[in-house]
Amino acid sequence: MARSAHFSIGALDCWAVSDAAQPGNINMMDEWKLAAEPAALASWLSANGLYADAFPLDWLCLLARVGDKWLLVDSGSGPKGDANTSHLIEHLAGLGVGAADIDVVAISHTHYDHIGGTLTAHGLPVFPNARIVLYEGERGQLALKAPVPQVLYEAAQDYLPKLADRINYQPDGAEILPGVRIMATPGHTAGHTAVMLRSRGERLLFTGDLFYHALQVEHPDWNSQYDLHPAQAATSRERIYHWAAEEGFWVLPAHALLPGIGQIVRSGEGFRWAPKDCIRSGGAG
Ligand SMILES: [Zn+2]
Repeated sequence: MARSAHFSIGALDCWAVSDAAQPGNINMMDEWKLAAEPAALASWLSANGLYADAFPLDWLCLLARVGDKWLLVDSGSGPKGDANTSHLIEHLAGLGVGAADIDVVAISHTHYDHIGGTLTAHGLPVFPNARIVLYEGERGQLALKAPVPQVLYEAAQDYLPKLADRINYQPDGAEILPGVRIMATPGHTAGHTAVMLRSRGERLLFTGDLFYHALQVEHPDWNSQYDLHPAQAATSRERIYHWAAEEGFWVLPAHALLPGIGQIVRSGEGFRWAPKDCIRSGGAG
């Protein structure tokens, strides 16, 4: 079965497709080391019925049919994953889409769980007919070194040279397919981008790791240890939250639970995450 959820954005058929066999239950304090005041975090978790040591998340990519092209945003972990991840190709096949059908793969950023699925363990292209689009600002990942934690740049430094003749670096705002633009949202990495799809007045913004979870919608400054530039990450979040709440478009974060999409809405002085319910999920939509 394809772990996916179908939704329409204007005339576009879109699917959130998971890379994982099942949703994860991570120890979020160990994993993320959120820059949150402990009492405030504890009270947020309890108000939301969640536990820090079994925190639910998924690993979502976006598949969309844009005209006669197949667009994939992010590629999962591939050979860099663990026992639960790296099922994207199987889940795409469950939707009747083969790796060779994909025309464009846009990558939100070069962490292993987003770019890892573009190459096999032998360094061969997984999507043989695809152009791989990356925001040019992400090339900065190549220059990182210790004391920056290696997990923040290992995949970039392994993959970007191997993908050199397949990557199409694009500037902020570039239209990569009709109605599809990349938008720089730096901070998590220097060249982190969101991808905006637009059709018939409807819009969907795939936000990658701009925020991991609804708690970072309510607390934009609760950065994780994986946010390379924390102040800039918080600024990018605030900017996108204002815009999304003002204009009411759909948002798909990479680590939300299926069906994954929702909206950012105003709440008091700030914002909160409003997931979309009543969407078909799990089948070939
Ligand atoms: Zn991620």
